[in-house]
Amino acid sequence: MALIVQKFGGSSVANAECVNRVAGIVADTYAEGNDVVVVVSAQGDTTDDLIDKANEINPNHSRREHDMLVSAGEQISIALLAMALEKIGLPVISLLGWQAGFSTNSNHTFARIKKIEKERLMSELDQHKIIVVAGFQGLNKYDDITTLGRGGSDTSAVALAAALHADKCQIFTDVTGVYTADPRKVPGAVKLDEITYDEMLELASCGAQVLNNRSVEMAKKYNVNLEVLSSIKREPGTIVKEAIKLEKMLIRGVAKDNDVVRVSVLRLPDQPGIAFKLFSRLAAKNVNVDIILQSAGRDGTKDITFTVPLSAEDQAREAALAAFPDLTDDDFIVDAGVSKISIVGAGMETHPGTASQMFEALYDANINIQMISTSEIKISVLVDEKDADKAVSAVHESFFPED
Ligand code: ADP
Ligand code: ASP
Ligand code: MG
Repeated sequence: MALIVQKFGGSSVANAECVNRVAGIVADTYAEGNDVVVVVSAQGDTTDDLIDKANEINPNHSRREHDMLVSAGEQISIALLAMALEKIGLPVISLLGWQAGFSTNSNHTFARIKKIEKERLMSELDQHKIIVVAGFQGLNKYDDITTLGRGGSDTSAVALAAALHADKCQIFTDVTGVYTADPRKVPGAVKLDEITYDEMLELASCGAQVLNNRSVEMAKKYNVNLEVLSSIKREPGTIVKEAIKLEKMLIRGVAKDNDVVRVSVLRLPDQPGIAFKLFSRLAAKNVNVDIILQSAGRDGTKDITFTVPLSAEDQAREAALAAFPDLTDDDFIVDAGVSKISIVGAGMETHPGTASQMFEALYDANINIQMISTSEIKISVLVDEKDADKAVSAVHESFFPED
């Protein structure tokens, strides 16, 4: 007998028909003799709707109350799915995050799971019950509800799979697996049978929302046997694992991230310690800096340009002003109309022409590159947001030509 964790995202439980379909999948898994722990997200656009409601009442609400509100979405889903399973005569119990033992740190809206206390889960499993757990939520040391960041139910599922030493963790969603690009945006995208944790982590971190990046990080750390598959079409999905069989594919996928703002700090003194002064202030504010570009010094000054998530624009401004109090408005330029396009693949490590192939595809599509960054298995470029979809298609077509 195996223990299987199955996670169903918002679109998979969007309405009664979907919930019943999910119940059918869970029931079949249970009927095969497996222990089943299910994680569900809020139905459809519920989380977005709750966030809109919060902003309507008070756009400056505290993060604690934010979590109190948005965690409600998952509570609805677990009860509905449990009811659907009761209807077909199965032993089931729904549990909120805290009831399932999720304890987190206190970083409201982006909390990290610290531990899962397994007693309750184990006792329900001992009674052969199907457990339906609310994703995306936990409890901090003050007994306040926290949430794990958008898309956090994936992380809840992987964390449960790791804690319970599950035989596999299946992430059911509205597409049939991980593709070489978002299959809803790029018609020629190809489904991957397998992908490594490292490649998936880069794709997820670069905007491929099919898996939350923290969930992949955790799956790698605990070697969780992970599969992404469809809740609608019953067919094998994409396996995410440590090492995959060698394929000729140079890159595994193209991703787009619109959650980027480009910040330029101009006319800084061209002397040692300037970058440290700026980036240490940003680090102290926990700002996640991505691409960094420093101009060559000219006439005793230099410019530093970097990207941060949209939500960090104000912190970036505060950090720059704290580091350089004489900074004028003319010397601090912010542009939110940018997108980051990335290609990811372990194959590029041994292929020096990969970057130039990407740049050629962008040149042929007449798209200007504003910034570039590379790592061993990833190349990212910053482009104008209005060119972003065209850029993804052009780059995808170059690496995955349609016959
Ligand atoms: P869920 O509600 O199940 O958590 P998400 O909306 O978070 O689902 O993730 C699934 C979506 O991810 C798909 O509908 C697809 O549009 C998008 N997506 C982006 N990049 C990719 C990719 N490379 N492969 C598959 N899906 C992708
Ligand atoms: N409901 C949450 C969200 O919309 C968590 C999730 O879907 O994974 O972000
Ligand atoms: Mg998701």
